[in-house]
Amino acid sequence: MTRPRTAALIVAAGRGLRAGTVVAKQYTPIAGRAMLAHAHAAFAAHPLIDEVVTVIADGQQELARVALGPAARIVIGGALRRDSVAIGMAALNPAIERVLVHDAARPFVPVEVIDRVLCALDEADGAVPTLPVADTLTRGDGALVRRDDLHRIQTPQGFGRAILASAHAAWPIDEDASDDAQMVRRLGGRVALVQGDIMLDKVTYPQDFAAAEARLTWETRSAMGFDVHRLESGEELWLGGILIPHDKGLSGHSDADVALHAITDALLGTIAAGDIGTHFPPSDPQWRGASSDRFLAHAASLIADRGGRIDFVDLTLMCEEPKIGPHRAAMTARIAEIIHLHPDRVSLKATTTERLGFTGRGEGIAAQAIATVSLPGQPR
Ligand code: MG
Repeated sequence: MTRPRTAALIVAAGRGLRAGTVVAKQYTPIAGRAMLAHAHAAFAAHPLIDEVVTVIADGQQELARVALGPAARIVIGGALRRDSVAIGMAALNPAIERVLVHDAARPFVPVEVIDRVLCALDEADGAVPTLPVADTLTRGDGALVRRDDLHRIQTPQGFGRAILASAHAAWPIDEDASDDAQMVRRLGGRVALVQGDIMLDKVTYPQDFAAAEARLTWETRSAMGFDVHRLESGEELWLGGILIPHDKGLSGHSDADVALHAITDALLGTIAAGDIGTHFPPSDPQWRGASSDRFLAHAASLIADRGGRIDFVDLTLMCEEPKIGPHRAAMTARIAEIIHLHPDRVSLKATTTERLGFTGRGEGIAAQAIATVSLPGQPR
């Protein structure tokens, strides 16, 4: 039996105004990336999800492109949530048999919840993640509400595509629906309850953003970079992102800024993303004479794309000449500027090699860097 083709439909067409953020809340960053991008990445990475379609509000196309990248499939939603779901459903590949409908206000989607919903769909028409209600509940008159039969409903909610489409078609035209399970139930469909996860808690109010970030685990990683370039007459000396007056300069395919190259490799190392040559091959003529700040900025952007942040960069330059001390502050400031870091978080040291070796003979400059970054881990 071939497995059913499955799509994730992320509903992000709300205005998100209660969050009090400058942009609609689904585009407000959490751990360095738009809230919407977290859920999108979780579905896109799941091996049993074949297609991800995101339903957005009209006018937010550019925000969505920036948040999700140019390859993401987006469609413009309608006035009501149910309209947006129906529009998204219509945009799915015809071969799709199952749909997971997810609210963008729940940024972190544990893979285990996706698995549970999909597994329950083997037996039921729909599956909904829920959590028990822990708090004591009362009505306005103080009467206690029995909570043993109450559940907090979460998303993603999974359905067979056909029954969800029928449920939407049968729903009264002038009535909105806050979730799809109630629509499928009204049609007589059987909806299973599966265990939800506190990672799926909704982000609604301003204080929810900090709470959501706090739910993430953070992983600290450090990695090294090392580089050497030859000193030659007739070259400009670019070092640490600044031009230094000197009788020799570093030679190489790019501007040969050995300091920026070492830091670039250290940053790439923290996300196991190869080295500078992987991203900017020396064989590619477009990098001839290129300013190395582009390489460094690219490495920093790859970390930001992962939702990570750079905590610290430490660099050691090895050479007899030029003297580094007079240029230290300018180099530190420039490096910090390129990777959007406070200068306190960039350390620059220099040493001679006691006139030993190629650095001691003034034939070249060597640089060694170590970078420390924090990356958001998988939801617990
Ligand atoms: Mg190099």
